[in-house]
Amino acid sequence: MAIRVTVWNEFLHEKRNPRVQAIYPEGMHVVIAGALRQAGYEVRTATLEEPEHGLTDEVLGATDVLTWWGHLAHDRVGDDVVARVHRRVIEGGMGLIVLHSGHYSKIFRRLMGTSCSLKWREAGEKERVWVLEPGHPIARGLPESIELPHVEMYGERFDIPAPDTLVFCSWFQGGEIFRSGCCFHRGQGKIFYFRPGHETFPIYHQAEVQRVLVNAVAWAAPSGGPVVHFGHKQPLEPLPSA
Ligand code: ZN
Repeated sequence: MAIRVTVWNEFLHEKRNPRVQAIYPEGMHVVIAGALRQAGYEVRTATLEEPEHGLTDEVLGATDVLTWWGHLAHDRVGDDVVARVHRRVIEGGMGLIVLHSGHYSKIFRRLMGTSCSLKWREAGEKERVWVLEPGHPIARGLPESIELPHVEMYGERFDIPAPDTLVFCSWFQGGEIFRSGCCFHRGQGKIFYFRPGHETFPIYHQAEVQRVLVNAVAWAAPSGGPVVHFGHKQPLEPLPSA
């Protein structure tokens, strides 16, 4: 069965800013969804202004991996929806891929337990994303580094807990570096943070970036591990009597 992906986008910049509209006329979720669909995944999209932000119990229950792009309106995401997504990751094992300015979303900050703050600058400089773990599934098919000609800079320190695996690290023309591909396990679920994706540059049209997203979905999808039972436990073997 194909991995079921829900691509979530705040979808506000594209409605308000002609520069963004020119790059993503139908919204960046449509471009991301297209790349994932082409890879054989079963993909739907959801956006902020839909009822329940398009993330009903039914939708989340039928989602193996959720991707998240938000920026302007993190505060408008309902706490009940955040709690629902959180539960699906921790208890249900849903994968979560947090993109670019999603670092400051309620769901990512809740899952990390830190501020998730960082340094930033919008100067259209160059970024080189270095693959640190060439054997990691998210690095499959990539060159040693990915060059993004024009980006918004994100710089360290990025206030996150140390990732379980750091797959990518970025260098910026202005001198900063950034942990730009971070893997985490939380409860039953897997989380991948991927830095590139500022709305005024055609980042999600770039082939290597699409490749990362396709690989990340495969990695983050539930891997069919055991159902875990918590709480009081009878011994599996007879215990010596006291
Ligand atoms: Zn940005």
